[in-house]
Amino acid sequence: MASGSASLQLDLTTLLFISLLVTLTTGILYVLDAVRRGDILSGRWWSLAFVASSLASITYIAAAQGPALAWAYPIGNGLAGTATALIWVGARSFNGRPPLPLIGFAGPWIMAGGTLVTVEPIDAWSGAASFLLTVAAYALAAAYEFWRGSGRRLQNHLVLAVACAASGLFYAARAAALVSLGQEHPVFLRYFGPEVASTVVLLLIVVLTFSLVALGKEQSDIALYRLATRDALTDVLNRREFARQAELILRRLAYERAPVAVLLLDLDFFKTINDTHGHAAGDLALARFAAVAARCLRPSDLLCRYGGEEFAVVLPRVSFDQAEIVAERMRAAAAGLTVPAGKAEVRLTTSLGLAFSPAAASDLTDLLHCADTMLYRAKAEGRNRVVSCVREAKPAAEATLQAALPTIA
Ligand code: GH3
Ligand code: MG
Ligand code: MG
Repeated sequence: MASGSASLQLDLTTLLFISLLVTLTTGILYVLDAVRRGDILSGRWWSLAFVASSLASITYIAAAQGPALAWAYPIGNGLAGTATALIWVGARSFNGRPPLPLIGFAGPWIMAGGTLVTVEPIDAWSGAASFLLTVAAYALAAAYEFWRGSGRRLQNHLVLAVACAASGLFYAARAAALVSLGQEHPVFLRYFGPEVASTVVLLLIVVLTFSLVALGKEQSDIALYRLATRDALTDVLNRREFARQAELILRRLAYERAPVAVLLLDLDFFKTINDTHGHAAGDLALARFAAVAARCLRPSDLLCRYGGEEFAVVLPRVSFDQAEIVAERMRAAAAGLTVPAGKAEVRLTTSLGLAFSPAAASDLTDLLHCADTMLYRAKAEGRNRVVSCVREAKPAAEATLQAALPTIA
């Protein structure tokens, strides 16, 4: 049996080859995924980062072939720096900010050009400290960009922020160790030597690729969810999502025996508005009305476009008086709205039917039906008004509710 501990040995060229293969493979998978999802903004910058990173590996491998090719090291550094900078550029673009590619390209190439011009003869360590600091600066800038974008509830933002911050700190520490100890010092070689650095880069590429793909997927899932649940013209909930959320809310309120109000709103004489000012002005009026109506509500209330020029609202946990105040506020908001239509102005009014249930003991269909009856009455009584009713619990609903409540033994 062998005595002593076995140690893992990998020479640098092998590691560079493995890095190149991993970068190419993950890069191709990333580009295919970005193209399939149609991610043409940030995906374009991150795809270029993979290209720059692959070219950097090829350049380093070429430079390592002999002193005659050593001038390629600063070029490799420029490419590796560009790859890091492009992660930052892509992150800015992903956050909807100007991507600033010129600032991304300038740093690494000023650094690489400076080395080529000022250092003679060039070897693998020429300009290494400024290269490491440049990469650290862009990696930390990328970390900040991912972190500030995390407010959009995308979980992979934070993973990317941590990965970029960790690599930025590693590169900064490597630069400090290089300057203070020198590249031959055993401590530098043990913790920051080329093999360690290549392994860190390899891990980083895998983490970045996985997280960037996951981030893109998360973003398109959110976009699809919005498309599936919102009305395209007014951006309020569509009827299907309203029904789904309202059923859940009503079930919880019934369990808690908490009150709820349902409103149905119908814009008055809307056909005349279309006929007088045109369909485009009608569309604008609908969108503006939805926006002012949403401003009358709390975040926990639901607003949906129920049909053409009809809207529905659920107000959980309100008293009858509070529900009437909200309904009246929406009526006044519509009456106060002026929508431009060429040289003219469109004025709106809306009629509202309100159904209130003290202990949420009626189901959604019943409350909507009741609100619709009240809306019909509001129209008949002259429009631009609120008509309300109180729904007492139906015996059948009450019995079902009692059965659903937990019994204490
Ligand atoms: P009432 O006061 O009785 O509600 O009268 P009304 O004219 O509002 O009611 P009616 O149901 O006769 O007409 C509704 C109009 O709403 C007809 C339809 O063209 C218009 N409408 C429905 N959806 C849209 C839309 O998306 N855009 C525009 N511009 N108009 C719409
Ligand atoms: Mg109508
Ligand atoms: Mg109408």
